[in-house]
Amino acid sequence: MEELIVRGQEIIAKRGDDLWTRAPAPETKSLSELRAAARKCTACPLYKNATQTVFGEGRKSARIILVGEQPGDYEDVKGKPFVGPAGKLLDRALEDAGIDRSEVYVTNTVKHFKWEPRGKRRIHQKPNSRDIAACRPWLEAELRLVRPEVLVCLGSTAGQAIFGPSFRVTKERGRLLENEFAARIVTTVHPSLSIVHPF
Ligand code: SF4
Repeated sequence: MEELIVRGQEIIAKRGDDLWTRAPAPETKSLSELRAAARKCTACPLYKNATQTVFGEGRKSARIILVGEQPGDYEDVKGKPFVGPAGKLLDRALEDAGIDRSEVYVTNTVKHFKWEPRGKRRIHQKPNSRDIAACRPWLEAELRLVRPEVLVCLGSTAGQAIFGPSFRVTKERGRLLENEFAARIVTTVHPSLSIVHPF
């Protein structure tokens, strides 16, 4: 505890031996520096059971940012956002909308895969408010650097990271909103909700 205060990190919560602190996103104008710093992040317990940090991907000049919830099983292994089944659906949706994925910046609210074991499978667990608060500095830093014209929140976790815990995607879906991160913000459901799972 004392060591974390000395390092200047704000402690968000403590549960047993686990601590949630605000992620130490450095002041930088470089996305690659940010990505490199996030690789070493241990600000919340999620890094312990994940393979690696899955940071956002895309150009700093992107006009659109898509923000999902957290990396899934595929993303955790590959180290890239939206490369699993939900990513494939997202690619199709972008194609239908006439948008080239290489022109958008894609990221997640929480950068480590949160899961629980079920047999040999790793089952997705929704990030809680502590996880979202701990990881938020990375998302804020990405948004500050890219400064998108349009921000698309994919699901309630992203909506709550951007607008606060009372945000409800069911109420705000499709509405044009704004805040300090972008002049145009829309929220829709996460693409994984449209996937039929075989279990
Ligand atoms: S989930 Fe976010 S805050 Fe937690 S360890 Fe990973 S990068 Fe850091």
